[in-house]
Amino acid sequence: MSDTESYGFDTLQIHAGARPDPTTGSRQTPIHQTTAYVFRDAEHAAALFNLQEVGYIYSRLTNPTVAVLQERIATLEGGVGAVCCSSGHAAQIMALFPLMQPGNNIVASTRLYGGTVTQFSQTIKRFGWSAKFVDFDDLVALEDAIDENTRAIFCESIANPGGYITDLDQIAKISNKALIPLIVDNTSATPYLCRPIEHGATLVVHSTTKYLTGNGTVTGGCVVDSGNFDWSSSNKFPSLSQPEPAYHGLKFAETFGPLAFTFFGIAISLRDLGMTMNPQAAHYTLCGIETLSLRMDRHVENAETISEWLEKDSRIDFVSYAGLRSSPYYKRVDKICPRGAGGLFTFGVKGGYEACIKLVESLEIFSHVANLGDTRSLIIHPASTTHRQLTREQQEAAGAAPNTVRVSIGIEYVGDLIADLDQALTKATA
Ligand SMILES: *Cc1c(COP(=O)(O)O)cnc(C)c1O
Repeated sequence: MSDTESYGFDTLQIHAGARPDPTTGSRQTPIHQTTAYVFRDAEHAAALFNLQEVGYIYSRLTNPTVAVLQERIATLEGGVGAVCCSSGHAAQIMALFPLMQPGNNIVASTRLYGGTVTQFSQTIKRFGWSAKFVDFDDLVALEDAIDENTRAIFCESIANPGGYITDLDQIAKISNKALIPLIVDNTSATPYLCRPIEHGATLVVHSTTKYLTGNGTVTGGCVVDSGNFDWSSSNKFPSLSQPEPAYHGLKFAETFGPLAFTFFGIAISLRDLGMTMNPQAAHYTLCGIETLSLRMDRHVENAETISEWLEKDSRIDFVSYAGLRSSPYYKRVDKICPRGAGGLFTFGVKGGYEACIKLVESLEIFSHVANLGDTRSLIIHPASTTHRQLTREQQEAAGAAPNTVRVSIGIEYVGDLIADLDQALTKATA
C-alpha cells in the first residue's frame, strides 16, 4: 500500500505492507511455505548475496509472508523498518546484539516482565554483557548508572505486573544526552495505545505472542527501528559503523543510512543467530493484527469496569491499575497511552496466599495460564508460579506478593467476567 502517512490506524492495521498477490490475485497474504527462492541468474544471486539488491534468498533471513508482517508492524509503530523473530525474548536479544560487545552493559528498569529480568540478570552474562537495574522514577539514579560501557537503556512502556507506566519522554532525554539508544518493550501497550518512537524511543521490541496476535496461537517477536539514531556519531557501535568483514568490509551505517539497524538484523543477526519467525506464525499474527484496535478498545473498557468494581469490593486489599484514579501512574495515561492503560492489572485478595489459590481454582471463565494478551480472560498467581523461586522481599519488589494475582482481561461480555470473579471471590474468602 502506498502513501501510508495519510491513512488512519484502523486502515493501516489491515492494509500496511500487503497487496493482492500479483500472480494469483489472492486477497489475503499467502503463506509462503518455502525455504528457498529461485535466482533469476548468477548475476542476480551475486547481487543478493552482496546486499546490492534486496530480495529473497533463504527463509532463515527473509520470507515474503514474514516481510508483510514486518512492514505492517513498522508502519503501526511509525518506524522505518522491522525484523520479526521467533519470540519476544528472541526480539530482545536481536535488539541488543548489534549494539553490544563483551564488557558492555545496559541500564534496565526494575519493572520488567519476569522472564526479561532473568534473561538480563543471568543469561546475557554468558555473552559478556550485563545489566544494571534501576528504578526509572529515580532519574538521578538512572543517569548515575550510565557509564562509558553502557550501550542501551531498556524499559517497558506499560509494565506488568503492577500497573506502572514509564515516563518515556523523561527517559529519552537521558538517553539522548548519553548518546545511547532507548529500547522500549511495547508488548503490553501495543502501538494502538502507545507509540514509543513519538516519545523518543530508538528501538521498539514486541512479543507478538500477546496482543498483536491476540488469540494465544503462536509465539513471535519483532524489533522496530525508528531510523533516528546516528550509529556513526561515536565509536560505541562498531558493528554498525565499522567495516563488516563478512560482507567485504561494507559499513552498515554508511551503506543503509536510517535502515542500518534493520539490514544488520537480517543480514547478520538472523543469518548467524537463526531465531527466525516462520511463515505460519506470521500468518496467524497478520490475521490477528487486523482487529488490534477493536480488541484493545474492548480490553481497556473491560479492564476499567472490572478494576473499578474490584476496588469497591470488601474482599479485596488493593487494585494496581494505571487506569484507576487511585493509581500513582494515572496522570501518565494521558501523556503516554491516551487511549487507555491496557488490559493487565494486579489485585490483592484478603486471605493472602491460600485465598489466591482458591480464587484461581474457582474461576470458570478465566483460565489459569502463564500467558497474557489473549481474547480470553486469564489469571495467574505469581507467588505460586512465575515468581515462586524468588524470596518474599523480591516478590514484593516485583509486585508479586503472596496475596496478589495478575489478570489479563479478555474481550468477553464484562457482566459475565464480573459474575465469575464474584462467585470465585465468595469461595476464596469464605
Ligand atoms: C511475554 C513477554 C515477553 C517475552 O515474549 P515471548 O514471546 O514469551 O518470548 C517480553 N516482554 C513482555 C512485556 C511480555 O509480556
